[in-house]
Amino acid sequence: MGKKKILIVEDEQKIARFLELELKYEGYEVEIASNGRDGLEKGKSPDIDVIILDLMLPELSGIEVCRRLRQTSDVPIIMLTAKDDISDKVMGLDIGADDYMTKPFAVEELLARIRVLLKRRNNNNSSEDILKIGKLKLSKSNYKVEYDKENIELTKKEFELLEYLMRNKNIVMSREKILDNVWGYDYYGDTNIIDVYIRYLRSKIDQKYNVNLIETVRGVGYIIRE
Ligand code: CA
Repeated sequence: MGKKKILIVEDEQKIARFLELELKYEGYEVEIASNGRDGLEKGKSPDIDVIILDLMLPELSGIEVCRRLRQTSDVPIIMLTAKDDISDKVMGLDIGADDYMTKPFAVEELLARIRVLLKRRNNNNSSEDILKIGKLKLSKSNYKVEYDKENIELTKKEFELLEYLMRNKNIVMSREKILDNVWGYDYYGDTNIIDVYIRYLRSKIDQKYNVNLIETVRGVGYIIRE
């Protein structure tokens, strides 16, 4: 496997330079964009493995860059927010960022999160056919879901939603992200549809087998934990 390439989109030169040195030291290739427009252009390249995206940028805000990138790309994005503002974080996750860090942050923490995202990406790409969490088993090729060896009938969308959450187990998935990945960009309705389908899944799995499989993360989305 070749070197992983990381794009830093940050207008503060000192921070960009500091991150560049740290990342290169860790063995990554680094590219830098110093404004939103440049970041969007460079971020579209398929060579980029992770993007570190500052929120406050000239020309195009980090939020806007993230939103536009998500129309065509699922490259992992870590947002940098200047203030510890919960609404910025939720907004960032809602429009498809994978993670966020509040400045100032410890670089070790950033490196750790980059590793997590790279690993997650590899796992996602290996399209495992059988997914298992506890007694729940999903097999992709024959569209089958079982709980404790008992068959569960799901509609196509229910199946896809469950598969998506299981594939991304232990990670909070925002409604926006679920909508993009399970319903696709051609869906123009709002994210309430997800809550409806989560209810269907819960009635067929959680309530039927008296488990608490699908957890709600208030204001953000849903998670299935191993
Ligand atoms: Ca900035």
